[in-house]
Amino acid sequence: MKLPFTPRARARFQLCLLAWYRAHRRALPWRSSRDPYAIWVAEIMLQQTRIAAVLPYYLRFLKLFPTVASLARAREGHVLRLGSGLGYYTRARNLHRAARELFTRHDEQFPRTLEAALALPGVGRYTAAAILSIAYGVPLAVLDGNVARVLARLGALRGDLRAPRRWRLLAETAQQLLAREAPGDWNQALMELGETVCTPQNPSCGACPVSRWCRARTGKLTNSIPAPRRKRAAVRVRIAAAILRDPRGRTLLVRDPGAHDRVLFSRLWQFPAVEVARHPKKELAAHLRATLGLRSASLQLEALPIARHGVTFRNITLMPYLVRLPRLPRRARTRLLPLSGVTRLPVSSATRKLAAAASKEC
Ligand code: SF4
Repeated sequence: MKLPFTPRARARFQLCLLAWYRAHRRALPWRSSRDPYAIWVAEIMLQQTRIAAVLPYYLRFLKLFPTVASLARAREGHVLRLGSGLGYYTRARNLHRAARELFTRHDEQFPRTLEAALALPGVGRYTAAAILSIAYGVPLAVLDGNVARVLARLGALRGDLRAPRRWRLLAETAQQLLAREAPGDWNQALMELGETVCTPQNPSCGACPVSRWCRARTGKLTNSIPAPRRKRAAVRVRIAAAILRDPRGRTLLVRDPGAHDRVLFSRLWQFPAVEVARHPKKELAAHLRATLGLRSASLQLEALPIARHGVTFRNITLMPYLVRLPRLPRRARTRLLPLSGVTRLPVSSATRKLAAAASKEC
């Protein structure tokens, strides 16, 4: 891909895009801040999540944890509970761990070098470049789906943009185009253009500040670039979960037992559960025996209404079973609590669905 730029044209291109960004950027709380901590939290929360969904969580998070030190000192459960609903448990956990590293090793400051930033949990190349350029003016270009689409259309680059060779080419192009005197604004300008004007479908080329340099527009290729990505075939998964109940109305949650689907439950508190094939009851009973020492012969598993759950390319059927026991087992990494209190612990949305299905029936 070769963009049609002489050095002078590139300077004009940069001026046009920066001027547009400064006049039209959306007012977002992290944009009014130069605090690397606030920018870091925003960039982590924005990973694969829409701005509108992030905003309330971001504001609440910063109110509760306004500094690296306050986040580092917080209990992990408290931080994770804030992620409830947004589905960013892994990111919340990474924020917490990284805050502790910043607190102990970096004098409470986000590091200024790419190498040190990349060593923090949850910080990849894109996130590091975004934070370093916005917070410290480090000349590193970002490349995400929005930026890639804009660049591909400008240069009329066809084919799958995520293919390694094309992605490398786009990364090189992004770095060449970077306005080195204002890398933070530049990166945000390209992202903003991709999100609000150069959208995946029907881009608003009439409102585009750089349309005169766009090869896709002149070649009438805007709707065919980027090429649609091939969809991964959906995988069906069935998970049987045990809602154990004792006569006092309590249930049991386990944490990270190592024998379940880690992605679905995100290593949070969950009902004992196992992925099943043909005989859910038998397989769940065997799982309860192996992990909690419950004797299969004495277990009565009563099927509750199933719930559906979708995670990326997986269609998951959640199959809750009510299991009444005279006494709940006590083991390491288990909690006994009322069914209605399950959501007081950090739990995934799958566990919430199971708890909701169970509380209707119990
Ligand atoms: Fe995107 Fe249209 Fe601008 Fe080209 S002219 S960069 S397709 S919005």
